[in-house]
Amino acid sequence: MEVKLISWTKDPIGTVAKAASMCYASEPSRNVVRGCIKSGHTSILEMANYTFEIRGISRSCLMQLTRHRHASYAVESQRYVTYDDVDWVTTGLPLVLSPMIEQQADVSLEAYKDMVAMKHRAEDARAVLPNCMPTNLVMTMNLRAMMNFMHERLCSLAQTEIRMLATEMKKCVIACPDHTEEDADIIKSILVSKCQAREIPYCTERKWCGRAPNVEAVKKLIFDGHQLQNAVESFANGAALKELAEEAKNFSEKVSENS
Ligand SMILES: Cc1cc2nc3c(=O)[nH]c(=O)nc-3n(C[C@H](O)[C@H](O)[C@H](O)COP(=O)(O)OP(=O)(O)OC[C@H]3O[C@@H](n4cnc5c(N)ncnc54)[C@H](O)[C@@H]3O)c2cc1C
Repeated sequence: MEVKLISWTKDPIGTVAKAASMCYASEPSRNVVRGCIKSGHTSILEMANYTFEIRGISRSCLMQLTRHRHASYAVESQRYVTYDDVDWVTTGLPLVLSPMIEQQADVSLEAYKDMVAMKHRAEDARAVLPNCMPTNLVMTMNLRAMMNFMHERLCSLAQTEIRMLATEMKKCVIACPDHTEEDADIIKSILVSKCQAREIPYCTERKWCGRAPNVEAVKKLIFDGHQLQNAVESFANGAALKELAEEAKNFSEKVSENS
């Protein structure tokens, strides 16, 4: 796969800072941006757009990518483009499967070419083309949509190919020539998988990879913490009551001595 950042909002994080500071009538600063991100006020990230040229991903990866609705896509058409030789995309698939997949894909391609040679339309013949068919596209995503995309697709449960695509996109955005070092740090902190995006990292997935603690373990820790705190508090209350009882006893003894 080949991923290139081909265009972006001029001074992307500066533009975000300008938008953020408008909310508070303050001077634009990266600190305001960090503050907004921390408090979840992430709509300001929509001010920064990035356009990618992506080549050589599989059609199945494309299908996963286009499930992300807040992006614009222009994809090579299988209606208007016909294919002869094809480099099948087996990125991230088990090596042992690749030869079998490529062999079956070649059979499909031959059927496709026969139909096209018989003057059938490419848009009809493409019905036999497999998921490992490569495709090319141009995509524009704003930084907020990209953050959501990375939360899902940098997760170790995402399929390897789209995880690789997400990783390449992240590298391109970090290296954007219009970003300062501080901007790159902000980008690095938000373009992460969802477990890492949380201030206290935890994972809510059923199939848990172990990168962050499982949410149930965290809940138990908090619950146990509360139990401990309650125990300490009731112990402290008990001690205070004991002291009070002691004082009352002394007082009543003094009263009876004086009476
Ligand atoms: C590991 C994994 C396994 C998956 N398995 C399946 C599967 O088996 N079957 C399947 O169909 N899909 C599957 N998906 C795709 C998944 O269900 C989502 O469609 C995809 O991840 C896009 O997520 P999204 O809707 O949050 O993203 P986006 O479309 O990028 O939306 C981002 C956010 O915008 C908001 N938003 C967007 N549109 C709306 C709306 N119409 N109304 C309200 N809020 C909105 C939501 O807060 C959303 O989280 C899988 C994804 C992953 C990562």
